[in-house]
Amino acid sequence: MTTDRELHDHLIGRQGSRADLNTPVLVLDVDALDRNISAMAVLAANHGVALRPHAKTHKSVDIALRQKAAGAVGVCCAKIGEAEVLAEGGVTGILITSPVAAPAAIDRLAALAGTADGLMAVVDHPGVAERINAALAATERKLDVIIDIDPGIARTGVASAEAAVALAKAISASPNLQYRGVQYYCGSQQHIENYAERRSAIIERTAYLQRVIAALDEAGFAPAIVTGSGTGTHRIDLELGVFNELQAGSYVFMDKQYLDCDIADGSEPPFEVSLAVDSRVVSANHSGLVTIDAGYKSLSTDGGVAVVQRGAPETAFFAFMGDEHAALIAPEIGTQLQPGDPVSLTVPHCDPTVNLYDHYHVVTGDTLVDIWPVSARGRAR
Ligand code: PLP
Ligand code: MN
Repeated sequence: MTTDRELHDHLIGRQGSRADLNTPVLVLDVDALDRNISAMAVLAANHGVALRPHAKTHKSVDIALRQKAAGAVGVCCAKIGEAEVLAEGGVTGILITSPVAAPAAIDRLAALAGTADGLMAVVDHPGVAERINAALAATERKLDVIIDIDPGIARTGVASAEAAVALAKAISASPNLQYRGVQYYCGSQQHIENYAERRSAIIERTAYLQRVIAALDEAGFAPAIVTGSGTGTHRIDLELGVFNELQAGSYVFMDKQYLDCDIADGSEPPFEVSLAVDSRVVSANHSGLVTIDAGYKSLSTDGGVAVVQRGAPETAFFAFMGDEHAALIAPEIGTQLQPGDPVSLTVPHCDPTVNLYDHYHVVTGDTLVDIWPVSARGRAR
């Protein structure tokens, strides 16, 4: 939570400029953010497709409300804890995209169904549907549910068309559940770097989705909502026209992993990098290396390494040096940079990096204009 004191210190005190912020710090360029939010909203609207962006990326009430103001029908959340925080902040139309299976989480889902407008949750197993139905029965509430379909990675989702139909039957026999449609998130395909290769992989996976939908249709369970897609495949999914809802998330920030992907088939991607971890040189005692104050605790480590956004040569090689530090390695960098000099980094993978911070330091140009909490930080359950 941002205290008034913190806001005052940052906005009115001497720390009004980005360069004065203590580091490492998560910095968000609100103008680039708003352009990204608007670009995806326009794309979806032009295709007559609803947008329910994934909030697992930002975990922020402020950003979710901006997405909704730009036309999103709601947002997706990964977990019940995330959904509770965003709903509390006034965000409506939340879809929980991971199966809720823990008994305590099912009880909270049943409770949230009574207060959160337009709440939906995925299910991928009849036993869990039955438990959610029972928890709702105790409260006399109803919940809209979406069948999660496994795109072939065996993470979550029903594993066949027959299983989808069986689950749809179980849901329709549950008085407190309302069957609304299907979810299909092709996680493994999002980061295929080459556009043509990603496109053919998605065409093949979409053919399977269509077979599952045909089986549901035939059994009398035509899905009203077909939701899925991500930043990597949104354009292909819009072209194929099977989804009527997009769940893309990372487009609001972009990260190194997505910069490495040809998102827009060779043309300029419609999204720009709005997020940075601002760090600082803390030691410069070698000509070819400086040490900065951002290590494993400041950047997620699952998506490779960070790259320099500004403040140091873009070609500098980044090497983690433990929990608190990293090295930037480039010829003469240790003579060009001094201890205290700021270096902005593009993060390797946005979602887990954001979860390391309590706040976004929001800037316009180089001026700090606001501080937003990472509202659902750590709400993994
Ligand atoms: N939908 C689901 C179910 C996801 O798990 C994710 C991200 O992992 C997304 C949507 C958003 O995808 P992206 O961040 O690639 O845009
Ligand atoms: Mn991600």
